[in-house]
Amino acid sequence: MAYASSETQVRVRALATPPPRRVVPEGVFDDFAWCQSDTLEWRRPAGVWDGSAVVDGADPARMVFVTRRRSDGSSAAPFLPREPAAVHAFGLGLTDEEALAPWAIDHATDELHARRVRPRDVLWLAADNLNALFWGLHDWAHFHNHGPFEQRAWTELQCDAAALAWLWANRADIPLSASAWERVRGEALALSRARFAAEGLALDETLVSAPRVQALLGAAARATRS
Ligand SMILES: [Zn+2]
Repeated sequence: MAYASSETQVRVRALATPPPRRVVPEGVFDDFAWCQSDTLEWRRPAGVWDGSAVVDGADPARMVFVTRRRSDGSSAAPFLPREPAAVHAFGLGLTDEEALAPWAIDHATDELHARRVRPRDVLWLAADNLNALFWGLHDWAHFHNHGPFEQRAWTELQCDAAALAWLWANRADIPLSASAWERVRGEALALSRARFAAEGLALDETLVSAPRVQALLGAAARATRS
């Protein structure tokens, strides 16, 4: 699906986000795939895209989840902490729309799960650079896979793997070259190395090798770890 508003020149895509297989041990998540992810509405200004943005673990700039409205104009997500969306996303014609507060990703992960609210019913993603899109997809994985976040390095590894798998699946539409994808995979892997080291854990890097990540999506979304 692709369409653009002539007034604001906004590029809108429904990114395919089918459920990824679990690559981390059972127990890292307490309700993995509680909601089967399917699509993420992604918007960016038609003429703005930075595909060279580095995934370095810093807070992603120009990335925010805009909260949808009900037909009566009220927020579809009154239970989420919100901020003015136009503070975080530019060139999209946003005026008085609200967005999930960027500090409240964990809160949203818990609340969406507790209330059984399908993420795409209340959120869409604004991101105008590759780093922002990576983290938006990473958070999209959190929103569909609930965990207590006690095993942080493992939790983040799964969400990184999902984000990479979704980037790969949508690479023609983003657009993203195979070499750019591999660059992002390497940057995400470096973050995982640091997270595992910080927890004194060994990281089996083959879990997120390019072939495994590229094959992560499929019908066996709830497959157990081999
Ligand atoms: Zn995360």
